Amino acid sequence: MRQYVEQKARVGDAVLLFRMGDFYETFYDDAVLCSKVLGIALTTRDRNSPNPVPLAGIPHHALESYLKKLVAAGHRVAISEQLENPKQAKGVVKRDVVRIVTAGTLTDDALLPGSEDCVLAAICLRGDDTGLALVELASGRFEVVDLTRDTLLDELVRAAPAELLIDDDRQGDAAKLGEQLRHACDTMLSRRPAHEFAASTAERVLLDHLGVATLAGFGFEESGAGVCAAGVLVQYLRETQRTALTHITALRRRGSNDALQIDHATWRSLEIDRTLRSGSREGTLLHAIDRTVHPAGTRRLRHWLRAPLIDADAIVARQDAVAFLLDQNLVRRRLRERLRQMSDVERIASRVALRRASPRDLAALGRTLRTLPSLAEPLTDSRVALLAAIAADLTGLGDLAEYLAGAVLDDPPPHAREGGYIADGFDAELDRLRSIGRDGQSWLTDFQRREVQRTGIPQLKVGFNRVFGYYIEVSHAARAEVPAEYIRKQTIKNAERYITEELKNHEQEVLTAAERAVEREAILFEQVIARVAERMQPLLALADALGRLDVLAGMAEFASQRRCVQPEIVEGNTLDIRDGRHPVLDQTLGDAFVPNDTLLADPDARLFVITGPNMAGKSTYIRQVALLTLLAQIGAFVPARSMRFSLADRLFARVGASDEIMRGQSTFMVEMTEAANILHHATSRSLVVLDELGRGTSTFDGLALAWAITEHLANAVRCRCLIATHYHEMTELAELLSGVKNYNVAVRELPAERGRESGIVFLHRIVEGGASQSYGLHVARLAGIPREVVSRGREVLDELQRGFERESRTPQLSRGRSREDDQMMLFRDPAEELARELDAVDPDRITPLEALRRIQEWKERLRRPSSQ
Ligand code: ADP
Repeated sequence: MRQYVEQKARVGDAVLLFRMGDFYETFYDDAVLCSKVLGIALTTRDRNSPNPVPLAGIPHHALESYLKKLVAAGHRVAISEQLENPKQAKGVVKRDVVRIVTAGTLTDDALLPGSEDCVLAAICLRGDDTGLALVELASGRFEVVDLTRDTLLDELVRAAPAELLIDDDRQGDAAKLGEQLRHACDTMLSRRPAHEFAASTAERVLLDHLGVATLAGFGFEESGAGVCAAGVLVQYLRETQRTALTHITALRRRGSNDALQIDHATWRSLEIDRTLRSGSREGTLLHAIDRTVHPAGTRRLRHWLRAPLIDADAIVARQDAVAFLLDQNLVRRRLRERLRQMSDVERIASRVALRRASPRDLAALGRTLRTLPSLAEPLTDSRVALLAAIAADLTGLGDLAEYLAGAVLDDPPPHAREGGYIADGFDAELDRLRSIGRDGQSWLTDFQRREVQRTGIPQLKVGFNRVFGYYIEVSHAARAEVPAEYIRKQTIKNAERYITEELKNHEQEVLTAAERAVEREAILFEQVIARVAERMQPLLALADALGRLDVLAGMAEFASQRRCVQPEIVEGNTLDIRDGRHPVLDQTLGDAFVPNDTLLADPDARLFVITGPNMAGKSTYIRQVALLTLLAQIGAFVPARSMRFSLADRLFARVGASDEIMRGQSTFMVEMTEAANILHHATSRSLVVLDELGRGTSTFDGLALAWAITEHLANAVRCRCLIATHYHEMTELAELLSGVKNYNVAVRELPAERGRESGIVFLHRIVEGGASQSYGLHVARLAGIPREVVSRGREVLDELQRGFERESRTPQLSRGRSREDDQMMLFRDPAEELARELDAVDPDRITPLEALRRIQEWKERLRRPSSQ
């Protein structure tokens, strides 16, 4: 107990699993907690004492499943092992904590599904200097991201770390951020002592770990907050892993301008890797486009989505690879078949580095290495630069493949503890020990034959049982013939069992040989692991290549299944999509999905105002345009008939409710904060898609804000922009501002017929022109609002509109403005307005339906004033 208490004090708030024989025991509060979380029995250690110690234990072989539950419940778990063989120990068996398992440091297959990332992050906030470092223990990736306080949350939401280390002293800022993050992506917060964040400590730890004299080689001239955050990560990994971290060999410095920037609200709005409503994977972009067959590919695809490219050459390089794999059906199919069989080299390599690999890991690695040449071959000849580079990373490990084939059996037991995984012929001493066991059988046969001969008892048999070991069995009938030197051991129903001196000696030899063989195997296993660890760099490069190849082949497969095209990158500020389809809905709706065009181009059509009734498909459309742009910038082919686009530097999307992230603020406040962010950060090269601006406030307020924001985006920012709105007044902007165009989602109105009221049918087709009314009442009726309520609503609407028109006679909007601005009057004389609208109609560019609809609308508008 003294040993336990001393170790428990050292692991802080972690639950301590203390190995005692075949169990991991927990005591005191840990025992109470474990019995609750794990549903195991709570007992006491010393029942008769006045203060019995609570105790709960788990069998050692079930460790993984219990660990999983504890970590999932948000606990850190320290594992204390027996460090010597209890049989040989003098006094109390030596034990120590060998590792601390935390949510952000998982590497075992049982705890971490292959398709998931496990990112550990640390932030360091120091005045204006904001530092973020990320590490993946299961892959060795380690990076510092250059960013500002403004973009910190964006980066964190995209990286979705499982665990975030923050400074214990800075409760305020860091803690607030942590809370936001916890809402956004279930992150566990771990507070670290302030001294670990000191620049001098962090730098020393990093230099020591990376084995360098200066960090300048990694691009760090001085130790800013980023370096401090990285240092904190290494200290935490050392404390929790307690082993060399030989696969973490480099610290990458990443600028947040190296990729298409996607802020956190956009990331969530676009439902890229989790849906807004349920947070599930199904229904997301990732889920819809993912055709990878290897876990490393799945993880890599998510990385690509997080950091889409902004360099045309890099995009074209990926496109070329996808085009080749799309074209070469047979090559693609074979590659994917082989990739499916390959082990997760990245995960295995990291377990090797942590000295935590199992015999099965090594066997799987060996098998994979042996099949690499067949994977590389078709790529080498492809003449596609990216594929040739991947092929190069797939070669060069033939010697290791051969070594592993000779070292480890192909189908070893899952755990190292019972031996039986090192191949015969690998080590002479092991072979000798094993042959004692094997030859033991023939020795026994020979012994039995000799004893039958010597005693003249034909039924004499030699057997083995666990309690008595080897014995000679003689039936009761032959008891009289048993020689004097036989020692009787056991009487069973029909026979007596004996041993002899000779048999006992043999048993000793056989039994210890097996034990010595297991010990020998453990030593050899260490050697094999060390040998594999020497090749860490090429192994990690190989792992990376497998992941990339799988993503590229998966994108080609997606392109083939979903009839995708290669987007063309053009200069300027253009987004030209023909028959574009929403990547997710296109698959769920199939033929029912209506493709749509988009033609945004400077200077004539930078900004679309899209009107139409609720449920018409506005959000779907603008989200689709953002998603296709995102796909194009990761180098993927897109579901469309054609796409030409200019690279975007930032993507902003506000679609659907996203107010959970900052609880405690009103929807409107969130909306305005997000709009402010866009107005501050969007550039002329950005793509902005906005849904229902100004929704959370009164109608006039909302309209006024939506109007002003749109004006600013069109005039000052001049970015490509799609704005969906139910304020049909916004359509006037198209006449007032150059570069703004009106589109609406076509609706067919069904006139009232006998037995049926008038209604609308959504066509989901985007056509030029503004929608004249909101159709809110129609939709309300479709939704089942009682008929009398809807018709009362219609009366109220008429009344409101009359009042609205009376007021709009006063030209408030022109007050204090130039003559040109006078045109901005929101509501004018209907006849004058009608004349202008008529003038603006291009008969060649609208549908007959649309024309009819407009005539109908004009007639209505002309009728209305006379009814006052
Ligand atoms: P809005 O934003 O105009 O209220 P949504 O974009 O939410 O409308 O679309 C409402 C529903 O209409 C969607 O859930 C989808 O089922 C359907 N829909 C939208 N766009 C299309 C389309 N292009 N083709 C077929 N169905 C569509």
